[in-house]
Amino acid sequence: MNKWVYLTQTAHSDMAQVLGHEPSLDEMKVTLGGKGAGLAEMTRAGLPVPPGFTITTAACMAFINAGFRFPAGMWEQALEALHQVEALYGKKFGDPADPLLVSVRSGAKFSMPGMMETILNVGLNDETLQGLVEFTENERFGWDSYRRLIAMFGRTAMGISDEVFDHVMEALKAERGVEDDTALSAADLRELVARYKAAYREALGQDFPQNPQEQLKAAVEAVFRSWMGKKAIDYRRAEKIPDDLGTAVNVVTMVFGNMGWDSGTGVAFTRNPSTGDKTFYGDYLLNAQGEDVVAGIRNTKPVAQLGDDMPQVHTQLLEIAGKLERHYRDMQDMEFTVERGKLWMLQTRNGKRTARAAVKIAVDMVAEGLISREEALLRVTPKDVDFFLHPQFDEKEIRKAKAAGRMLATGVNASPGAAVGMLAFDADTAEAWGNAGKAVIMIRPETKPDDVHGMIAAKGILTSRGGATAHAAVVARQFGKPAVVGARDLQIDVETRTVHVRGQVLREGDYASLDGAAGEVYAGEIATVVPDYEKETELRTLLGWADEVAADPAARQWPADYAGYPARGLQVWTNADYPRDARRARTFGAQGIGLCRTEHMFFEQERLPHVQQMILNADEAQALFDRQHRLQNTLGVGKEDGKPLDEKRRADLQADLAAVEHDIAASPAVKAYRGALEHLLPSQRSDFYGLFEAMDGCPVIIRLIDPPLHEFLPGQEELLVEVTDLEADTGLPRTETGKRLLAESLAEKKVLLAAVQKMHEANPMMGLRGIRLGITYPDITKMQVRAIFEAACEAAKKGIVVKPEVMIPLTGHVNELKVSQVDLEGVAKQVMAEQGITIEYKFGTMIEIPRAAVTADEVATLAQFFSFGTNDLTQMTFGYSRDDAERRFLVKYVELGVLPVNPFQVLDRGGVGKLVKMGVRLGRQTRPELEVGICGEHGGDPSSIEFCHMAGLHYVSCSPFRVPVARLAAAHAAIAHKGKVLE
Ligand code: ADP
Ligand code: MG
Ligand code: MG
Repeated sequence: MNKWVYLTQTAHSDMAQVLGHEPSLDEMKVTLGGKGAGLAEMTRAGLPVPPGFTITTAACMAFINAGFRFPAGMWEQALEALHQVEALYGKKFGDPADPLLVSVRSGAKFSMPGMMETILNVGLNDETLQGLVEFTENERFGWDSYRRLIAMFGRTAMGISDEVFDHVMEALKAERGVEDDTALSAADLRELVARYKAAYREALGQDFPQNPQEQLKAAVEAVFRSWMGKKAIDYRRAEKIPDDLGTAVNVVTMVFGNMGWDSGTGVAFTRNPSTGDKTFYGDYLLNAQGEDVVAGIRNTKPVAQLGDDMPQVHTQLLEIAGKLERHYRDMQDMEFTVERGKLWMLQTRNGKRTARAAVKIAVDMVAEGLISREEALLRVTPKDVDFFLHPQFDEKEIRKAKAAGRMLATGVNASPGAAVGMLAFDADTAEAWGNAGKAVIMIRPETKPDDVHGMIAAKGILTSRGGATAHAAVVARQFGKPAVVGARDLQIDVETRTVHVRGQVLREGDYASLDGAAGEVYAGEIATVVPDYEKETELRTLLGWADEVAADPAARQWPADYAGYPARGLQVWTNADYPRDARRARTFGAQGIGLCRTEHMFFEQERLPHVQQMILNADEAQALFDRQHRLQNTLGVGKEDGKPLDEKRRADLQADLAAVEHDIAASPAVKAYRGALEHLLPSQRSDFYGLFEAMDGCPVIIRLIDPPLHEFLPGQEELLVEVTDLEADTGLPRTETGKRLLAESLAEKKVLLAAVQKMHEANPMMGLRGIRLGITYPDITKMQVRAIFEAACEAAKKGIVVKPEVMIPLTGHVNELKVSQVDLEGVAKQVMAEQGITIEYKFGTMIEIPRAAVTADEVATLAQFFSFGTNDLTQMTFGYSRDDAERRFLVKYVELGVLPVNPFQVLDRGGVGKLVKMGVRLGRQTRPELEVGICGEHGGDPSSIEFCHMAGLHYVSCSPFRVPVARLAAAHAAIAHKGKVLE
């Protein structure tokens, strides 16, 4: 015989008997649901819980699978349990003199919206009502409970529409000339019961069931059915909760908090869920029932005051809180009711908490010996850590703004974060203002795909329509922009560029503040605060543990032939271009620089003219160098087209060489080219010196110049306009000097324009950039390598521990390394010889072209390290240009479910990830000691970090502000995969 029903009092031992072992908390939740397991555990711990029973989740599934029929024996078991409850409580279900009443409560393993709401006071009918009135000595309360039962039962169990009862209520209130339910008298409510019954009969063609058992049965069926309701199914899909878990039904003896001033009800947390402080926290109301506390109809009192109102109950509740925390080893959120001085516990569950509280509670509980460090790490999410690194509204300022009536509206909290800016009513305005450095909040009734450019430029997004999955919400989350959507009170008029709300008018350009986490909109600017990381002691403690967990020398296991794969977990490095970023990242816990982009350094105002000189003269100078090299080569080998050189030919070639060398010496282009490089060398050297100093003792990966050169020159359009304007000006009368200056500047612009036109590429991102540039103009990258090693040697001489790693971008074929890396390494050795010092260094490459990943065994013959540039690798694997994709179709793809997420944010394991794994495997087959990391934006994304752990990378590198998040994610990955063989 299946056991479908568990008496709360004996649930634990009964389950032990059925299972053949002590049930774990999880097993209890699977069978009894979260609420049922909580009630059973509290009872077992000796806490005062009203007697009751739980019908299992398995019964729910059996009911559904049998076409909405109770499984055999279930109802009999329920009635048997009901009798036991009667015996325990000393009242009888349906007893007219002193009735036992119950609540029927749903409760799945996970708490879930869409499930049937609790029905209180089941068992009340025309007869038992009299008993209740006598027991509570309150006639009004009796009738009020009865009319609530009829409406609640009719609505939630029998599916009568809300309006039916609302209508009846409104009519009666109108007749009595009152506005509030509370103004209705006992006699009025008695009349209401009669009318509700009539409405019930009219809606269903049958009477409200007077038989308490029939009420109970219908309520249980309704809970089971609600598991298959649309809202519940949608929620499970979204949260990936399996459909076959089912929900349990809890039948609990009613206790009454509304029986006078020695009664009450409340909600309490064992610790402050906002700050995490270890103080008892919550609200209660005297002489009130259940939902009154949350409904906000009366002003609640803080639980601390319970000590004055009911000292004994207060002491008892504190004891219970301690007991529950020790039992569940987590902060608890409890519901309680006091009936004539007696405390009853109605629910306990792990309490929801803020990011700050999550961190503090986790760290405190380790200190208290309640949980292990690993458990503490698992109690905190990457999102919680992220909270500490971004501006948040100052809570005091928010309270002030609310008090001053500045809160304009609330909407769906679509994407968290605090945003302050000027309202812009369309995407173009938002983009223009954003590019001009203004903080903008883009406001629209709703957004469309062609608004994305404005949304990217804005600090926050605000709409009056749509919900959590609207276009605005999806895009905002994708780009990490705070957003409030569907703020219905806002009347947005795009024509007049105004928004009307609660009698106020805001115009375009007016300031507003959005709290994306709370879904609130405020007028004006609200001050934000960025938490000071150095002062966040608990967070730093927690992340210290994260590093320890990730550094566990047995964190990763690999198949026997996976030579060189790391056994410890991931390190976190950072992408930093400047010493100040490097220093910040180190405070955040970075253990190396995974990517220093050198091109930013070229953009500095003082350097840009030299960079442009370098670019404009590179081609001509290089052509001369190439001729010189060819001649030197031929003369050196002494052969041409396989035939030895004769005397005559040799003399000719020697003359040619002399001529070229003369040309080189006389060439203005060569002079300008070399002059520019010489000028840039010291500035680059001092940039790198600063980095080595900031990263003393840590590896520093410096990437050689990567972007197409045209990025350093003015745009073609812009130059064309200038040339045309200057040409038009030549006709105007002016002085001789004026004419000369004009002609000079026109000539200069024309040269620049010609150069820019010559450099034009159809698709520059796939054109002359990265290693191709280094091979075409080797002096540029040689200058960079010289700067790196001169700086490194200088730093090393001062006692700084330097570990330079030179990274060659965009390799696609090993031959590219053959012609560049060897020469570059020559420069490094030469500098060390000049400086009379040797330092540890590496040369390696980025893997960002699919071909490089596929031929990684060949690439690794030269490269001593790989760094996966997953942004380009994603672009090239999908064949998407990121900018175009994100502006055009990617949002649509995610909306339609073509792609589960934006692959530029979360690494695509199935495609790009496969290439990464292949690259690591092939690379280490050639070179087991190959160092491997990732330096794309993915390096800061928790899911991608987990993947990097599984793929055998040594480190992830991300922007300084992502470093703390990445440290936690690296620890999570280590915990999740410990003891498994990865491959
Ligand atoms: P939820 O899942 O929304 O918390 P609950 O089943 O806990 O739903 O119940 C809703 C409200 O009714 C709560 O305030 C709860 O304390 C109260 N309640 C539930 N069962 C009883 C009972 N047997 N006696 C008194 N109050 C009850
Ligand atoms: Mg509920
Ligand atoms: Mg509850």
